[in-house]
Amino acid sequence: MKLTLWTYEGPPHVGAMRVATGMKGLHMVLHAPQGDTYADLLFTMIERRDHRPPVSYTTFQARDLGGDTAGLFRTACQDAYDRFRPEALIVAASCTAELIQDDPGGLAETMGLPVPVIPLELPSYQRKENFGCDEAFLQIARALARPMARTDAVSCNILGPTGLGFRHRDDVAEITALLNEMGVAVNVTAPMGARPSDIARMGTAHFNVLLYPETAESTARWAERELEQPFTRTVPLGTLATRAFIDEVRALSGSTRPVDENRLRQPWWASSVDSTYLTGKRVFIFGDGTHAMAAARIARDEMGFEVAGLGCYNREQARPLRALAREMGIEALVTDDYLDVERAIESAQPEMILGTQMERHIGKRLGIPCAVISAPVHVQDFPARYSPQMGFEGANVIFDTWVHPLVMGLEEHLLHMFREDFEFHDAAGPSHHGGHAPRRQESTTPAAQPAASAAAVSGGSMPPETAPAHLQTDLEDTAVVWLACAESELRKIPFFVRGKARRNTEAFAVQRGLARISVDTLYEAKAHYAR
Ligand code: SF4
Repeated sequence: MKLTLWTYEGPPHVGAMRVATGMKGLHMVLHAPQGDTYADLLFTMIERRDHRPPVSYTTFQARDLGGDTAGLFRTACQDAYDRFRPEALIVAASCTAELIQDDPGGLAETMGLPVPVIPLELPSYQRKENFGCDEAFLQIARALARPMARTDAVSCNILGPTGLGFRHRDDVAEITALLNEMGVAVNVTAPMGARPSDIARMGTAHFNVLLYPETAESTARWAERELEQPFTRTVPLGTLATRAFIDEVRALSGSTRPVDENRLRQPWWASSVDSTYLTGKRVFIFGDGTHAMAAARIARDEMGFEVAGLGCYNREQARPLRALAREMGIEALVTDDYLDVERAIESAQPEMILGTQMERHIGKRLGIPCAVISAPVHVQDFPARYSPQMGFEGANVIFDTWVHPLVMGLEEHLLHMFREDFEFHDAAGPSHHGGHAPRRQESTTPAAQPAASAAAVSGGSMPPETAPAHLQTDLEDTAVVWLACAESELRKIPFFVRGKARRNTEAFAVQRGLARISVDTLYEAKAHYAR
């Protein structure tokens, strides 16, 4: 058992639903108890689809358990086929149905339906949503795709976009246009938008473009083996990665057509003088492995940020993410426990977080600006406007999205210079956020009070009564006192680095066995860490 409040990923059957909902002409029958239909809302509310997902649930109840649940499943399959006449069916069990072991695959096979029935094995207690996507797509491809003669003109498949994918809709449009510009036709985009009959002709493409390793790497590897289609390894997130992706496509397709970079504004925006203040900003990055790794490279190589933390929640991507973190001289965080993430953010004291919807909540609580780079996301990250993350327009979107939550350069300067101003004071937050963005609350407690408030340890971000137990314990251990003069000297340090200065000074004092922090201690600590 594990006490869980937030989960980064849903159960694997939600992943299979994402594949089914992205596709057309495919129906999914899910053996599941009454109530599991809540997952429909992910698609109809968050993604705002205008039709129900193509999923039939058996919705068995407690009273059915004494009877024929296998019969219920067969009836649901027959009804789904009679009503929707799909080209193929996928069948699976949800977490509860896995326990009653009715074997949906075996049951459906004996029914003699006139279309392919593809059983999915989804181990709900070991694996999660991304695995469910990856596995469902793999089984569909294995069941339907065969080696075939290639198209006359060079073509590729785009693999990975699904229902409920973070910006998948616009990434596909962006990358399709880029491939077309290079003279490469897109044969099949799958799972999103594909019919089972399209999957059947995947083999006619010359190579595959793998956009989302989380949802389609198994299929890409299978196609490499069975259909002899090589696939792209670079995910075109960011300007440099997009250029590397273009080179990879050129090598696979033989295309020499030039690509127009006139629409790409990100490199000039990032190097123009107004972006100078971005240099060295400390960012903490967390998300799915693909987006987190791409964000770390963009942050370091294209924006001039310092990557202060890097992690992912899907352990399938742990190995490459650890390698990248090592290359950046930081320790990777691979966890699906948001409390671990919160602790890592508190201790890294970043000036900005790039993360998921969970990290937005953490950033809000700690008063640290945050931009969203990865699923899981809320309804506002399925925007009405064109908003890709990939390709050249994606690089433009990423620049705007990341810079927006930050305080602008001039304002940062004013905040530093006129700390007592009624408008430009530390607690005001960025003015383009209506002045309501939370700012870290520094303790104004006069000195010689033990700095034993959680605020002190966490950089002033949390009131003591809500401090997690582990922080309270740290405090009891350290109990360093800030003298009034030191506290007021500390407040002269700009707010965005004050938390780190406070924390460093306290660590310095504890190391030296000092019970009180004076102005001298503050400056000694500063000199110590500057060495
Ligand atoms: S929390 Fe908001 S976005 Fe999420 S399901 Fe509820 S209303 Fe929709």
